[in-house]
Amino acid sequence: MRDGNSIVTKHTMRELQSWTHDELVGAVQELETEIENSERLTDYQGEIYRAIVERGYRKGWSACEFLGRQIVKLYEEIGELAYTILDPNHCDLAREIEMLTEQARIVFDNQDKKYWRDATNKIGRKDIPHIRSELADTQVVLFCAAQGAGQMIGKEFNLLFWAWHKARDDIERGVRDEPK
Ligand SMILES: [Mg+2]
Repeated sequence: MRDGNSIVTKHTMRELQSWTHDELVGAVQELETEIENSERLTDYQGEIYRAIVERGYRKGWSACEFLGRQIVKLYEEIGELAYTILDPNHCDLAREIEMLTEQARIVFDNQDKKYWRDATNKIGRKDIPHIRSELADTQVVLFCAAQGAGQMIGKEFNLLFWAWHKARDDIERGVRDEPK
């Protein structure tokens, strides 16, 4: 075990003493897998992207259309995340997000090539510095939210690692609708 990754640094001694033998064995196995994967993976972004390609979501789209579709997809995912913290019965924003999420889902599932060509034709290479900066802002917020989630349970939550796992696990789900 190396520094920062040992089971003792991940959990308090008090926690470990209360665990059953099976829970300890499970935690050690989980840690070993985590270490193995973190050593193997130096390019999480590339690995996640390749999982999405394998799943089928890259097929048939230009880079520009793919980028535009991912941004719409982001609205859908943020909406699903917002449901977990906002109560539509008590918050106007939650109701707005609910409608926006539903709309984003419908738009993302639209496989019409002409629609996406028209929808994304305003994105050009000159926009990339701005898009890059906004994507970075989005990622900063996601990383901070992940830190908050980890702090709530008193356990490290490595978002890149979880995203990689999720993308790999979802490969077999394929696309919701095959592109025409
Ligand atoms: Mg989701």
